[in-house]
Amino acid sequence: MKHVYFDHNATTPLDERVLAAMLPYLREQYGNASSRHEFGTLARKAVNQAREQVAALVGVQPVQVVFTSGGTEGNNSFVKGAAGMLKPGQIAVSAIEHPCVAKPAQELARAGWKVRKLAVDTEGRIDLTDVAAALKEPTGIVSVMFANNETGVIQDVAAVGELARAARAWMHTDAVQALGKIEVDFPALNVHAMTISAHKIYGPKGVGALVLDKRIELKPLMSGGGHEQGLRSGTENVPGIVGFGAACELAAGRVRELAPRLAEMRSQLERTLRGMGAVIFGAGATRVPNTSYFTFPGIEGETLVIELDNAGFAVASGAACSSTSTEPSATLLAMGVAPDIARGAVRLSLGSGNTPAEVEAFLRALTGVVARLKQLTAMAV
Ligand code: PLP
Repeated sequence: MKHVYFDHNATTPLDERVLAAMLPYLREQYGNASSRHEFGTLARKAVNQAREQVAALVGVQPVQVVFTSGGTEGNNSFVKGAAGMLKPGQIAVSAIEHPCVAKPAQELARAGWKVRKLAVDTEGRIDLTDVAAALKEPTGIVSVMFANNETGVIQDVAAVGELARAARAWMHTDAVQALGKIEVDFPALNVHAMTISAHKIYGPKGVGALVLDKRIELKPLMSGGGHEQGLRSGTENVPGIVGFGAACELAAGRVRELAPRLAEMRSQLERTLRGMGAVIFGAGATRVPNTSYFTFPGIEGETLVIELDNAGFAVASGAACSSTSTEPSATLLAMGVAPDIARGAVRLSLGSGNTPAEVEAFLRALTGVVARLKQLTAMAV
């Protein structure tokens, strides 16, 4: 059997229809969207159409969409760009943010900002009483992700947004892991800014967007030719942007049709995992339908990932974006999970190509691997 891919929160395969939309812009339509001739006009039209497709998916006007090189740039652009416009004060970010929010926030400390981590409960949900307590201090920026990349837990962003607005802070959400999995409606989220990325929704890598409320202005991270309303200079990645637009067009249907199928497969998976003695993180909270994050106490997550890879299944340990590190997941530590339990964490994230038969095959392989590893651990004691 060929390798089965269960790591869709790390990245997704490129949808064939997205590739087809991109190909002309990698071949004959290679114009620079800023050029005044026919080649440039065609490229500009394509970028504008993609902007409309992205805007339609998240319920905003095209002018609110600023194309970036992906989620990392979007998050950095917001945190640094907002800080560049505001007087140093408090920046409040959840304790479970992706490093591309957590690190730029931390870096602001050098510029005189006070960094406040917002607590989560044992299921990984943001603690609204802690948000309210934090916002008693004058606060410039708040950032709370929509869905966590490890647990899949969905946050009540709108409620945090309400508190942030009342405190006159700028509110941002990293919706990279929510887009294409659940409905993402910018106006309903009550935020000033939102980050999204194409490669998590069956689009190409290296492209994404920062969606902005029309009333806020950011200091650009990149200066130069003044592209993207001066917010992101640099010749547009036309094929990537076209691919992102096509992926957004397909995403609405995916949320409707694929999500229930993935939720069913995850239930099938987690029923058996529980029977095998696994601890499932965040299972008491509302989660995106494709993600399951679990551990078998006593077994290292890294070992399990390698053994499962040898058996033909691609899953992730801890945070996928830092899988070379053996540090326990900061998200799990923030949830109060003990470091030795957190080290055992394995994430399985389903996607459009997966089938119940693959989940069954995975569970058979996992049963064998876990039994063998438990035996080895018992012998080592
Ligand atoms: N934010 C979250 C929650 C993510 O999971 C990721 C990617 O893993 C990113 C941001 C970074 O996005 P990109 O890979 O497009 O830079």
